[in-house]
Amino acid sequence: MVDIAKFFLEFTVEESCGKCVPCRIGTKRLLEILDKITMGKATLEDLDKMEELCDHIKGNSLCGLGQTAPNPVLSTLRYFRDEYVAHVVDKRCPAGVCKNLIRYEIIPDKCTGCTACSRNCPVAAINGEIKKVHEIDQEICIKCGVCYDTCRFDAINIV
Ligand code: SF4
Ligand code: SF4
Ligand code: SF4
Repeated sequence: MVDIAKFFLEFTVEESCGKCVPCRIGTKRLLEILDKITMGKATLEDLDKMEELCDHIKGNSLCGLGQTAPNPVLSTLRYFRDEYVAHVVDKRCPAGVCKNLIRYEIIPDKCTGCTACSRNCPVAAINGEIKKVHEIDQEICIKCGVCYDTCRFDAINIV
């Protein structure tokens, strides 16, 4: 839901004509806060700040674009606040979407050592010999998800 709110806001930031400040600047600041949330750098105060900013943009923008721009943020905050809180407090993305908040891990019991993941990893972050359990080097992994899509044994988890 955080990612969906961000998607819609990116659109309005792009489409804002710039005539009035609440929309031109306000939506950009809103997007910055959403970015912070998806990177696990936001605080609970940021959620309050975001709600306040939404009200200001809605109430003071000149046309419908600015007046409705905060709606996706407000409705997701209202109905899916727990998802925002998970990002902010637990530094976790329940949907497994925000790259900075997830990691890919190999389940040793399921890994057959087929080597498919290590052969396809674009940054050579997976170590392991054939027919032996493989391991992901989290320092190198860029979280592209290729290994997850490649593994035919469901041996890779997103946590
Ligand atoms: S609210 Fe309308 S007039 Fe104001 S900057 Fe946005 S698009 Fe332009
Ligand atoms: S693709 Fe899956 S089973 Fe094969 S080595 Fe990688 S994690 Fe193990
Ligand atoms: S997520 Fe991408 S970079 Fe990370 S280990 Fe898997 S394939 Fe390699």
